[in-house]
Amino acid sequence: MRLHEYQAKEILAKAGCAVPAGRVARTPAEAAEAAEALAGRVVVKAQVHAGGRGKAGGVKLAASAAEARDAAASMLGSTLVTPQTGLAGVPVDAVLVEEALEVDEELYAAIAIDGAEGGAVVMVSAAGGMEIEEVAERTPEKIIRAPVDPVLGLMPYQIRKLANGLGVDSRLMRPVSGMLERLYSVFSGNDCSLVEVNPLVITTDGAVLAADAKLDVDDDALFRRPDLLQMRDPGQEDPLEAQARSYGISYVKLDGAVGCLVNGAGLAMATMDVTDAAGASPANFLDVGGSADVNKVAQAMGIILSDPNVETVLINIFGGILRCDLVSEGVLEAARAAPGAMRPMVVRMQGTNAEEGRALLAESGLAVTLVDDMAQAADAVRAQPKGSGLGGE
Ligand code: GDP
Ligand code: MN
Repeated sequence: MRLHEYQAKEILAKAGCAVPAGRVARTPAEAAEAAEALAGRVVVKAQVHAGGRGKAGGVKLAASAAEARDAAASMLGSTLVTPQTGLAGVPVDAVLVEEALEVDEELYAAIAIDGAEGGAVVMVSAAGGMEIEEVAERTPEKIIRAPVDPVLGLMPYQIRKLANGLGVDSRLMRPVSGMLERLYSVFSGNDCSLVEVNPLVITTDGAVLAADAKLDVDDDALFRRPDLLQMRDPGQEDPLEAQARSYGISYVKLDGAVGCLVNGAGLAMATMDVTDAAGASPANFLDVGGSADVNKVAQAMGIILSDPNVETVLINIFGGILRCDLVSEGVLEAARAAPGAMRPMVVRMQGTNAEEGRALLAESGLAVTLVDDMAQAADAVRAQPKGSGLGGE
C-alpha cells in the first residue's frame, strides 16, 4: 500500500527527519490560507500515488497566496498523468503546500526490498532529482548501494560509506548520516517495502531536508499496522485491484492480453512465465486462493473479464483443497452473469475432480480449449487470435 507524500512526511517528521514546513489543502482557499501561514514563496504539490509530478505540472512554485490558490485550483479536481501513471492518470483530491526551499543540491536516497539480495538495500546518489531513472539506466555506477542485514540493521560503517559516496561537504556528513539512519528506522519500523526521498535537498544555507517522500507499506503487514491502514486512499488505487482486495483475491493488474485465473501464488507466477514464454503477456497476476468457493471464482473471473485488454483467459488449476468442478461452476456463473464479456479460454485442470471440471466446461458451449499440461497451455495461448479484446485497437 502506497501512502501520499504528506502522510509519508508526517511519518518521517515523527522519526526526526527534517521535512519542509507545510500543510495539506483540499480547496484553493485552503491552499491560499496555507501559503499565507507559511509566508514567502511556497511550492504547491499534487498529492497522488505516483512520481514524475514535476514533469507533469504537478509541482508548482507560487510567490504569493493568490498564486498558490491558482496553482491549487489548476490541480484540484483534475487527473494528473505522469510518466508513472498510465494514460488514465490519477485524481488530485489534495495538494501539499510547502515552504519553497533554496536548493543547492538534489541528492537521492532510498531503501527498498531487493529480491536478489533477499532483503533491504539502501541506495543513494549525488545525482538526485527528476532524472534519477535515467541515471539508474545509463550510469548505474552513480548509485551507491548497501545491502542491510535484517538482524544487524544498517551499520555505522555502511552509513559512512553511503554518506562518503554522496561526496557532500564534510560539515554535512553528520546531518546526512543522521537522515540515512532515521530513514532506515522508518523503513524497518513501519514494515515498508519502499522509502524513497528524491530529492534529498541540501539548501543554500546547508540544511538537509526530505523535499519529497514516497513510502510503500508491505500489504501483508497491514494487519498489524492499523495506524497506517487508515491512511489508505482507495481513490488512488486501480479499481480492479481494489475490488479484488475487497473479495480477498490476490490480484495485480498488468498490461498484457492474457488474463490468468490460477490457484496458488507459485503456480500463478509460473503461469505468467509460461504466458511470457509463449510470446504473449499476462494481463494480471491472480491467485484465487486454496479456500475459494464458486462465488469467489466467479468474482475472480468477473475481475479478469472487466479488463478490456484481456483477449484470452488462461485458467490453470491444480485442484487440491479447491475442487476443479467448483472452479468450472464459478466460471460458468461468471459467463451467465456477463455473457458478452466472455473471451476464449485455455484451461488446464489437474487434481481433485478434474474430470468433472473439464466436462462442465466442455459441455458449456463456451469457447474452451482444454489442455493437459503447461507446455500445451503455452501452445494454445500462442494459437489464440490477437486483437479480440473488448478494448479494441
Ligand atoms: P516528483 O516529480 O513527483 O518526484 O516530485 P518532487 O517532489 O520530487 O518535485 C519535483 C522537483 O520539483 C524536485 O526535483 C525539485 O527540483 C523541485 N522542487 C520541489 N520542491 C521544491 C522546493 O521547495 N524548492 C525548489 N526550488 N524546488 C523544488
Ligand atoms: Mn521526487
